[in-house]
Amino acid sequence: MTQQKTNPYTALIEIPAGYLNIMGYIDESEVNGPGCRAVVWVQGCLRECPGCFNTESWSFEMNQLISVDNLAEKILSNPRNQGVTFSGGEPFWQAPALAALARKVKAGGLNVMSFSGFTLEQLQSQYPPAGAQDLLEQLDILIDGPYIQSLAINSPDSPVSSSNQRVHVFNPGLEDQITWASDQIEVHIFKDGSRLITGYRGGLELSEG
Ligand code: SF4
Repeated sequence: MTQQKTNPYTALIEIPAGYLNIMGYIDESEVNGPGCRAVVWVQGCLRECPGCFNTESWSFEMNQLISVDNLAEKILSNPRNQGVTFSGGEPFWQAPALAALARKVKAGGLNVMSFSGFTLEQLQSQYPPAGAQDLLEQLDILIDGPYIQSLAINSPDSPVSSSNQRVHVFNPGLEDQITWASDQIEVHIFKDGSRLITGYRGGLELSEG
């Protein structure tokens, strides 16, 4: 798939302060991080990794605009959510708003994990995406590195989808909770009959009922 060549910087400045442009959201996932958690898929990624599971997330065009306050409220209103995972798309292109969201849900007692196609070293380099350090400081867990098809793993013994990706556990309290696996799949069926399939190699698939 060839990405629609929107300039991400032009698209990103169209997102009002305090808002996120997201591709999708679910509650109560058990295949996207420790325990039971909300998942936010942000819209927009430049990498075009061959074999990417979420090619619909590549475009930086406006998809679902949601305020950080509303999203935090939604996540915290479900008592089964023990944490939230940021996926994509590339979460770090919207790092300032995700850091604000992370602060709000952490104040409510939840933990925060993020995937990123950037490596930790790139996020800590001299020229990271805006707000990267702020978001890193909020994270309990970071899964870093792009998906590389030739290094793909689909195994009950691996939490990552390709062997170059690394699990950085910044919160020692979660060290024994890296229990999800790259071969797991989950189907969410919503009241309107639409379905969302997630978890298999980190994929996300939305379909009408
Ligand atoms: S970084 Fe993730 S969302 Fe972006 S192209 Fe690669 S696999 Fe897809």
